[in-house]
Amino acid sequence: MLVFYGIKKFSGFIRNMPTKKTKTDELKAKILQQEEKKEYRSSRFQKIEEQVKASLWRQATDEALKDVSIWALVVGSSDVHYECFDGYVVVRFRIDGVLVDIFRLTPAEYKKITERLKYAANLKLNITNIPQDGKYTIKSDDERKIDVRVSTLPIKYGENIVCRVLDAEKAIIDFEQLGFFWTSKRMLEKAISKKSGMILITGPTGSGKTTTLYTILSKLNSRDKKIITLEDPIEYELEWVVQSEIDDKHGVTFESWLRACLRQDPDIIMVGEIRSLETLNTATSASLTGHLVLSTLHTKSAADTLDRIINMWLKPYILASALDTIVAQRLVRKICPDCKTEKQKTPEDIAIIEGMMSEIGMKGITSEHIKLYHGEWCSQCNHSWYRGRIGIYEIITLNEKIRDIIRKDGSIEQIIHEARNGDLITMKEDGILKAIKGHTTIEEILRVI
Ligand SMILES: [Zn+2]
Repeated sequence: MLVFYGIKKFSGFIRNMPTKKTKTDELKAKILQQEEKKEYRSSRFQKIEEQVKASLWRQATDEALKDVSIWALVVGSSDVHYECFDGYVVVRFRIDGVLVDIFRLTPAEYKKITERLKYAANLKLNITNIPQDGKYTIKSDDERKIDVRVSTLPIKYGENIVCRVLDAEKAIIDFEQLGFFWTSKRMLEKAISKKSGMILITGPTGSGKTTTLYTILSKLNSRDKKIITLEDPIEYELEWVVQSEIDDKHGVTFESWLRACLRQDPDIIMVGEIRSLETLNTATSASLTGHLVLSTLHTKSAADTLDRIINMWLKPYILASALDTIVAQRLVRKICPDCKTEKQKTPEDIAIIEGMMSEIGMKGITSEHIKLYHGEWCSQCNHSWYRGRIGIYEIITLNEKIRDIIRKDGSIEQIIHEARNGDLITMKEDGILKAIKGHTTIEEILRVI
């Protein structure tokens, strides 16, 4: 809390701060290099290989595929990549955002996998030179429904396949577990308690936008409200929520589907992603006619989001009335709780912290007051130091002053300046606070931002 007030107090300093180049870029390059050299090791990977190959040997290809999907979820991965090379195929999992080699398959083993996968996902077996996509569902041993989305891509050495594994019945977590602490939690709770207005969750692919949306929906979910979603695809199932998935194969456009949803008398509408001006216009009019509208946008930051919407030619006076809150986010890896230890700060660390503290206007707090942590090596985190991820956020809620700036065609800088006078903390600042609190590392913040 103290740290947070420090930022507010010094917010005047942030605006007047000269844009001095720090050594951050150099350090970031160094960190990325170190990451590349890191080798994930785990006895569990060997176990996965043995289990899958034994199933393949018994001709139980179904089981082999199920093993891969279930293991992917067990080690915290949502994507399985099969990559073809000259004479072998590598199976890789994306764990906490990083691709990790798990084991190799022979072309003969991979052929069995491909055929079974294509059959399960309703893809054409004989077509190997055109990309295809499909999906299928499996049940885990404890009867949970696991959705697998399959996409193929013909490449030089065969057909690469990527499977997205989604635990459709995964428990939705709460705002704190997602990393909404302090002001950001308060701001988000306030925004979703309103009867109308548009809340946009923004960030690049894989930044956790969907999880945030589902968490908001589960908070709002009650029998006295009608919540309708338009998703592409439905990733989690929520009881009582009317979930729909756009089926554009029958010539229905996203906009006409969205308009149909609005005729169903909803209180809250969730639109998976705003991709065009038409969708933005429909979502905006839904917000202006007394609905709470939730959606996502593929942008880098809160400022970038405003820039993008204005560049989509939405009229400023409409934007000013319809938009309520922008949440920009990224995911950073959490320090593994099983091997987390306090770190001996190096002179380099001290330089980074003090540089960053000065960047965010917290000169008063020197690095001596700050403890840093990191992971050691342990089998729980596959020797990666990290386990699980947490969000870092920046939130802008439009107050009357900001709405006025937008109506008068003011610049993005003016808007950010005004938001800074209020509660705006940037993603980087939120990240540094989380590193100081021992949730993640400074290196990880630099890697992601
Ligand atoms: Zn560990």
